[in-house]
Amino acid sequence: MALKGADILKSLPKTNCKECGFPTCFAFAMKIATGGAKLDQCPHINPESKAELEALLAPPMKLVTIGTGDKAMVIGEEEVLFRHEKSFFRETAIAILLSDDEEPGVIDEKLRKIQGFHFERIGQKLNVNLVAVSHDSQDKGKYTSLVKKAMEFTDMPLLLVSCETEALLEAAALCARRRPLVYPITKENVGAALPKLKELKLPVGVWAKSLEELAGVTAQLQAEGIEEMVLDPGSKNMLEAVRDQTLIRRSALKKGFRPLGYPTMAFPCFMYSDKFKEALAAAACIAKYAGIVVLNQVDERFLLPVLVQRFNIYTDPRRPMTVEEKAYEILNPDENSPILISTNYALDYFIVSGAIEEAGIPAYLAIKNTDGLGVLAAWTSGKFNGEAIAEFIKKFGIENKVKHRKLIIPGVARKLKGELEEELPGWEIILGPQEASEIPKFLAEKWSV
Ligand code: SF4
Repeated sequence: MALKGADILKSLPKTNCKECGFPTCFAFAMKIATGGAKLDQCPHINPESKAELEALLAPPMKLVTIGTGDKAMVIGEEEVLFRHEKSFFRETAIAILLSDDEEPGVIDEKLRKIQGFHFERIGQKLNVNLVAVSHDSQDKGKYTSLVKKAMEFTDMPLLLVSCETEALLEAAALCARRRPLVYPITKENVGAALPKLKELKLPVGVWAKSLEELAGVTAQLQAEGIEEMVLDPGSKNMLEAVRDQTLIRRSALKKGFRPLGYPTMAFPCFMYSDKFKEALAAAACIAKYAGIVVLNQVDERFLLPVLVQRFNIYTDPRRPMTVEEKAYEILNPDENSPILISTNYALDYFIVSGAIEEAGIPAYLAIKNTDGLGVLAAWTSGKFNGEAIAEFIKKFGIENKVKHRKLIIPGVARKLKGELEEELPGWEIILGPQEASEIPKFLAEKWSV
């Protein structure tokens, strides 16, 4: 729960000395409440009040970092229950499970696929993020061998999974420099695990069979100085997962309940053996609100929809996806190549450029900055009208790239034709097809210089 300026003021010296850079303590308190100032700016606040305020001002959900370097996965510090209220900030980490009970050939194939899996959508790379190494064999040596193999094969962060605490902590020590997530720490093993966890200073995955029990374990760990935790409420199916994840998020954000103020994890891999149900549960957990989702499969047919679901949920709804304003050269165009124009709404760009590639006809694709608005919205807002496009064509010297004077405009922007004929005298303005999918046929049949 956000702290109000008036609440903060109660803990300030109220001398209005201005040393913080604000005219009064009240002005400073108001700025603190909106995140525009730091408590350190007041040199006179007493240490106890400062510690209390810092605890109250801390984000309702902790930030947790798993792994190191470029591949480190940061989850948590989410601020809202619903994406449309603001945005979800730190996308769900997708983990693929390896078991030391699987055949070596299966493990090798999974590792190869995990490492090589890259998928691009609207200019963004979609990847899996973690390798979960599970101890199911009862053989500690086999488990540590698999952990070593995962470390050698991939630089992705690791999630260590073992119900044998000794094996878990041994594996954690083995790869501590890679900053793995150590799971599960429970009511039963927390006492035995604490000395090693404090020594290694690694993020901890906490499992419990109820939210009350979960809160008890996190409070115990926090009292011992363990700050970075990921919560597993032990959900056994998709419905339980959505219920548990929602209760945790609500408790943290709406009630300010600190013991549950951590990112969460879910294990669709243990909920369902059917690949479709596993993917469906993963998609539900991404929407509601898992910080980590663990899958057993590396089958692209099921993994891709999950990654696209995450991509859609974690795209900031306040900012349309855009591409750079410029004249893109597709398939090495020359002076006789057509010029098509569209907006910098990313989806428009990728659909039209894809259609040109499909046509196999080299072309210039002139992309006008419309702040991410599509063709019709941009036209009605004046960002894609005749005057704006003419200015853009001149600014980027597009006329110098070709010897013809023909411009193909989107078929949905029929009214642009007249405007552009006025603004670009000497140019032939050609109305393109209504649908981008018709561009290959249109270019093949209609383009000539
Ligand atoms: S420095 Fe502290 S005491 Fe002085 S005006 Fe700012 S908040 Fe008030």
